Amino acid sequence: MKDCLLIANWKMNGSLSFNKKLFLELRELMANIQHDMEVAICPPNIYINQIKNLLSNDLSFIKIGSQDVCSEINGAYTGQVSLDMLDDFGVSYSIIGHSERRIYNHETDVEVANKVARVLLSNDKICPILCVGESLEQKNAGLTQDVIKKQVFAVIDCLKDKKVLDNTEIMERIIIAYEPIWAIGTGEVATAQVAGNVSQFIRGLIAEINLELSDKVRIIYGGSVKANNALELISQPNIDGFLVGGASLDAAEFVKIYSHMCN
Ligand code: PEP
Repeated sequence: MKDCLLIANWKMNGSLSFNKKLFLELRELMANIQHDMEVAICPPNIYINQIKNLLSNDLSFIKIGSQDVCSEINGAYTGQVSLDMLDDFGVSYSIIGHSERRIYNHETDVEVANKVARVLLSNDKICPILCVGESLEQKNAGLTQDVIKKQVFAVIDCLKDKKVLDNTEIMERIIIAYEPIWAIGTGEVATAQVAGNVSQFIRGLIAEINLELSDKVRIIYGGSVKANNALELISQPNIDGFLVGGASLDAAEFVKIYSHMCN
């Protein structure tokens, strides 16, 4: 049985009242499903505390995540949020290197790698979710594997310097999200076969550095996941869950995705 994971990326959406309504709907619908597969809600940072206060112990499988984290510990980094600050508010997951941050905030592979390293090495609770994926132009040019290899190896090279690649206990906290840019928010989902093949390719890259880890690392898919495509995607042996944007803002749709994953 796969140890699946569902991540909701609310992006820059929501308000105090919208969040409360959405979260309470989600909680109620999820409580009816007899399952404890983990889900993480990643609201904008300013609402993390609101969601933390709405969480109750009876649904301990619902966790909180952030949409980014700073690679530095503290200091003169205006507008950024540190790992310790996220930890203070009970965050369990941190999305890192989302394509929207790579595009709009010009985050490089090296910066993304430094963030992953910061989370893995300075904290033992938060799981970094490393996002990788190719653009439409790169896909059409047949460069998908090259792009992903470069993104994954930027992280591996950074961690190689810190000498933790053999430490499966630390390394298995990394979650890799395959998110083809052309599928994010476009309604154009990768076919289950394509998403499965790329996930298998990513697992193979991990096997090159740590065979035990390649078996344990969770690889999730993101890009226009909806209730009507979730079942086929999750049936792929190398897909261990989803990162969901748009559909996570609709409680009924999101919980349908969850229930497909539980079956
Ligand atoms: C995302 O934001 O990571 C994402 C996958 O968005 P969407 O589900 O809307 O494509």
